[in-house]
Amino acid sequence: MQILIVEDEAKIANFLRRGLLEESYAVDIARDGEDALYKFDINEYDLVLLDILLPKVDGLTVCRTIREKNTSLPILILAARDSVEDKVAGLDAGADDYVTKPFSFSELSARIRALLRRGNKADPVVLTIDDLTLDPATRTARRGKKVIALTAREYALLEYFMRHVGTVLTKTQLLEHVWDYNYDGLSNIVETYVKYLRQKLRTARRQKELIHTMRGSGYIMRAE
Ligand code: CA
Repeated sequence: MQILIVEDEAKIANFLRRGLLEESYAVDIARDGEDALYKFDINEYDLVLLDILLPKVDGLTVCRTIREKNTSLPILILAARDSVEDKVAGLDAGADDYVTKPFSFSELSARIRALLRRGNKADPVVLTIDDLTLDPATRTARRGKKVIALTAREYALLEYFMRHVGTVLTKTQLLEHVWDYNYDGLSNIVETYVKYLRQKLRTARRQKELIHTMRGSGYIMRAE
C-alpha cells in the first residue's frame, strides 16, 4: 500500500513518514501542491494524506484536481486549525475524512485503515490462497494453522501479492507499492525479499510454491 504525504512542514512530514513505514506502508512525500499533483500523475497511490495550507498550489485545489481524475482514491485531510470551515471545505472538495492537528499517530493510523478497508469493499476480510491466509486486521499470516512471523516489509510484500493473485507483478510495481518511490530501481531488493518470503512460506516439506517467477517480467502469485 503506497501513501502520498502532502505536507510542507518537514517535521510533520517526517513524523508521518516514520510512523507509516513502521506500519509497513510505502511512503512518498510532496512538499508543495505542485509536487503533489506531479507525483499523483506519475505514481499509483492507494491513499493521500493532504495538508490544506501549502505553497504553490493549495490543498483544496490539489484535492479537487485529484478527485476529478480519480473518484475512488481515499483522501484524508490534515486540517491545520480546528475550524469548521476548513473541514467542510475539504469534504466539499472531495476529501473522504480529516484529522485536526495536532493529532495522535494512532488516531491517524486508525482513520487510514478504515479508509483503505472501505476502498477495498469487495475484498474478503481475510485474504486466502490455497492453505495460506492473511488477516490484515491483525496482520497475521498463516500457512495451514502455523503462524508465519514476518518483518514489516515482508508483510507488506505478501499483502500486495495476496491482493493481486493471478496478476503478473513487475519488479517496478512491487518497488513502487511496497517500498519507497526513491529506492534505487536497479538494486536487487525485490529479488532478495521474494526469496525471504518464499523461505518463510515454506513451513513444511513438499509444500506448494505460491510465488512464481515470470522470466523477464516479474512474479505471479497463484496456486497450481
Ligand atoms: Ca502547511
